[in-house]
Amino acid sequence: MDGNPGKAKDTYKPLFEAGGKDICKEWSDMSDAGQAERVDRFMRSLPALKMGVQYSTGAGKLLFLPYVSSVFDSAYYALVRFVSVDAGATSDTGGKTSLGACKACGGIFVKNGNRQIYCDNVMCQSVRNNRKANNYYHRKKQQEIDNFIEEVIRS
Ligand SMILES: [Zn+2]
Repeated sequence: MDGNPGKAKDTYKPLFEAGGKDICKEWSDMSDAGQAERVDRFMRSLPALKMGVQYSTGAGKLLFLPYVSSVFDSAYYALVRFVSVDAGATSDTGGKTSLGACKACGGIFVKNGNRQIYCDNVMCQSVRNNRKANNYYHRKKQQEIDNFIEEVIRS
């Protein structure tokens, strides 16, 4: 609705009638510097996320990710990533920033792919690997992968 105050006014009409101030007019009357300051102030009001390099066993590489401990952290991360121009391609984490609750520890984590069910914690990954090792299907799949890798290495 940016650049179309008429449509914005219609949308938010119930708010004005309820005695709220005209935030659309306020915004459009504001200078560029004023708008930037307002956006900056809002973003600073969000809690800071601790970021760090974490080894992702799923992706098999180091990823720069937030340490998320709640769904709120995750939501802030998703919002910040969505509005930032320098947050990196979303394909870095499997096409989108989706969240999961780890099947082993219950912790919230940023998924590296849609099917990831364990977080990247080393302990949880060992749980994952043990379960996989006991599973015939996964053993068979793993054998196929091993054969493929061996083939690639040989050629
Ligand atoms: Zn976990």
